[in-house]
Amino acid sequence: MATRPPPDGPSLRLPKPARSVRGRSGTLGAHMRCPYCGSDRTKVIDSRPAERGTAIRRRRRCEQCDHRFTTYERTEPLLVVRKRSGEVEPFQVEKLRAGLERALTDREVPAGTLDQIIEQIEAEVRAHAPPVLTDLIGRAVLQRLRSVDEVAYLRFASVYKEFTGARDFEREMAALERGEGEP
Ligand SMILES: [Zn+2]
Repeated sequence: MATRPPPDGPSLRLPKPARSVRGRSGTLGAHMRCPYCGSDRTKVIDSRPAERGTAIRRRRRCEQCDHRFTTYERTEPLLVVRKRSGEVEPFQVEKLRAGLERALTDREVPAGTLDQIIEQIEAEVRAHAPPVLTDLIGRAVLQRLRSVDEVAYLRFASVYKEFTGARDFEREMAALERGEGEP
């Protein structure tokens, strides 16, 4: 049995739009909620660099209950890499994953190899002072691939080292056989 909804029943009511982050005054951050009373009538009363300039510490006062509290503004953790051209960009782990997936296609390697390599590379980038050179990342990947699978290594190297012909492969193969290769 179908019931007709009342003309202005709940289905017609739209949820209230979320309150804008920009406050009435139009200043950013004016509506940080008070942790004591929940009011959003809070004001910044002091603002200064903190954590050696990597953060901004703000003292705020609640106009409702007069409590004071502190907030910190920080950049999102970001790994920056520098390309050969000198350009800098965020480290994109998806890009690295795509490259490794291509290199490892149809290769029989232990499960989890790809994730393991990515984890190690990410840790290495994180441990390095920014910006990390993409060259360094490429070499680190090659070093690991070489001990995992030679075909995957050559595939990755051909992209990374911009092989232009069979000669490049032969040279790399010869280096591999000698146990050298300079990734
Ligand atoms: Zn309050």
